[in-house]
Amino acid sequence: MKNIIFIAPPAAGKGTQSDMLKNTYGYIHISTGDLLRAEIATGSALGLEVKSIIDKGNLVSDELIIDIINSKLTEIKGKPFILDGFPRTLNQAKVLDKIIDDNYEVIYLELSKEEAIKRIEGRLTCSCGKSYNLNDEALKPKQEGICDNCGKKLVKRDDDNTLAFAVRYDNFLNNTKVLIDYYKNKNKLNVIDVNRDINAIFKDISEIVIND
Ligand SMILES: [Zn+2]
Repeated sequence: MKNIIFIAPPAAGKGTQSDMLKNTYGYIHISTGDLLRAEIATGSALGLEVKSIIDKGNLVSDELIIDIINSKLTEIKGKPFILDGFPRTLNQAKVLDKIIDDNYEVIYLELSKEEAIKRIEGRLTCSCGKSYNLNDEALKPKQEGICDNCGKKLVKRDDDNTLAFAVRYDNFLNNTKVLIDYYKNKNKLNVIDVNRDINAIFKDISEIVIND
């Protein structure tokens, strides 16, 4: 299996595809956010350093994140991995190329702003953790406004505010443009249209990451 660097706008279904890759092929999902939180939780010297940086509202340096990713890569001993949330900058992408071998593909989940907004506007969640989407026939609750699982009333999430989401989407595009160009030039970029059925998307990703 090829390793994967995921780049995706919010609401593109990255979590769903990551789960399918984990369950089908045994990928290890490496989220830098999760790694930082885990390092803090261990109470290690590195964890304390990370905590003090984040508590001050600063960004953790590239070197520090690379250190943490490196130790995770050692720990998983050659199992295929998905990198999520990294790299975020051109410098990070270049450093990453020095520490991982060439056996990776960049999967870019493409979703237009209009479609992304439609998705988040239809999102409903239940306090039991199950989520629904009124704009997707397959993800509608059986009974309007009621959870299929537990019968509780469904709610719209606060962070699904459309304006805030639109800003988040624009920031994503601005911040990733340089990465997209970098990986396109390296012939590593695979653009996947995600305005489709999740199984069709998964099939396309699978064809890219399965080694001949
Ligand atoms: Zn429920």
